[in-house]
Formats: sequence, structure tokens, C-alpha cells
Amino acid sequence: MATFIVLLGPPGAGKGTQAKKISEILKLPHISTGDLFRENLSDQTELGKEAGLYINQGLLVPDSLTIAMVKDRLSREDCAQGAVLDGFPRTLAQAEAFDQMLRESFDSKVDCVPCIDVDAGLLVERLSGRWMCPNGHVFHATFTPPKVPGVCDICGSELYQRDDDKAETVSKRIEVYNAQTAPLIQYYERQNVLKKIDGAQDIDSVTRDILDVLEKIERK
Ligand code: ADP
Ligand code: ADP
Repeated sequence: MATFIVLLGPPGAGKGTQAKKISEILKLPHISTGDLFRENLSDQTELGKEAGLYINQGLLVPDSLTIAMVKDRLSREDCAQGAVLDGFPRTLAQAEAFDQMLRESFDSKVDCVPCIDVDAGLLVERLSGRWMCPNGHVFHATFTPPKVPGVCDICGSELYQRDDDKAETVSKRIEVYNAQTAPLIQYYERQNVLKKIDGAQDIDSVTRDILDVLEKIERK
């Protein structure tokens, strides 16, 4: 049976950082809707142009576009055994659509939702120092600096700061998280799959805590 893990948490909590590590360990694909939108944006596809209008304002891309994009991604063969979702679902409508996709296409359901908890002050600090490469590798100017400033350790690409990591957009994104995404905590609590994780710890300790809760799920 396929395994689906959803990493939940506010912008800057460390979802992308953890999803990469967990997906390598579990040998499941990492699906980041933010990365998929940014790829479309840099390729200037119709989807990318439309999504960019929302992303740059710190707003969510409409559910219909987002759900269709995830459905398409999940239909690829590498998802047959499951996936680690990062940044999806972000609304109740997306969560319901996702449950339906898993039921209909995989005869499966969401297995575990580690929810990475970090205070707002620390989120701002994390996002203001975030540097990314076009392939989605993530660094932090102070916490996890690249060996050579401005260059990705992993693929050698040039690092950049995201436009939506500017202070004004960050506060909007945190507001949007609290209004539209935080209700998913209750949604997954009701399904008995939500696991709170202290995201203020160092990266490896957060990974260890996530792996601990995943291990308990798999032993059920
Ligand atoms: P999200 O995907 O939730 O927005 P990221 O994984 O991109 O978050 O992390 C945001 C920033 O914080 C990045 O610059 C990343 O390097 C850094 N970061 C992530 N987790 C930690 C951590 N536990 N301690 C310190 N810095 C972290
Ligand atoms: P972060 O890692 O900081 O939480 P992401 O890279 O996940 O940010 O997302 C960046 C932006 O892409 C979001 O602010 C939003 O505009 C858009 N986006 C990503 N995932 C979704 C989603 N599931 N639904 C709607 N919009 C999304």
C-alpha cells in the first residue's frame, strides 16, 4: 500500500528542508507545490503566469489550478508507492480533494501529518535569510550557509532570494496561513494523523522527531 505524508506548517517552518531529507530516507518522491509553481513561472507556462499573480502578493493560488497540478503530478509512475507532500494541501478544499484522489487512484489515505511548529518571530528570521537555487536546494545566510556565498553546494547553480520572502509579503503569507491553512490542523486531528513537531530545534533534531512519529505510524 502507498504511503502519503503531508508536511504542514507556516512559511519558513522548515517543510522544504525536512521534506527533502525524509523523502530521501523513505525513497518516496518529494512533491512541493511551491517548487512546481516556481518551475512553471520560470518556464513562463500559462499556469506559471497565472500562479505568479498570486504568489507575488503572498496569496494562495486558486484551488482549481493547484488541485489539477497535483493530480497530474500524482499520476506519474514515481508516485506509485506514495509521496512526501510539502506545501499541499493548504486549504480545506484541497485537503478534501486530496483525500478523494488518494481514495480513487491509490485506494489509500493520508498516513501521517507532521505539523512543524515555529513562532512567528523565528519564521521571519528564517525567511529573510533564505537563499534558494533554481533546483529547489535551500540555504540560510546564518543557519545553514553555503560553502561559497551565492553558489549552491549541491548543484553549483547561482543562489537567489525569493521575491515573496520580502518582509511585506512574508507577513501576508503568515496571515494567509493562519486564516486558510491552520484549519487543516483540526481536519487532520480528526483523522488521527496529526503529529506536532517542535520546529525551533536544529535541522537534524527536527528530522529525528519526524522519523520517530513516522516509525510509530508504520508499526500500527
Ligand atoms: P518552508 O519550506 O517551510 O518555507 P524551508 O525549509 O525553506 O521552509 O526553511 C526556511 C529557511 O530556514 C531556509 O533558509 C532554511 O535553510 C532554514 N531552516 C529550515 N529549518 C531550519 C532549522 N531547523 N534551523 C535553522 N534554520 C532552518
Ligand atoms: P513556503 O515554503 O515559504 O511555505 P511555498 O514555496 O510552499 O512557500 O509556496 C510559495 C507560494 O506558492 C505560496 O505563497 C502560494 O502563493 C503558492 N502555493 C504553494 N503551494 C500552494 C497551495 N497548495 N495552494 C495554493 N497556493 C500555493
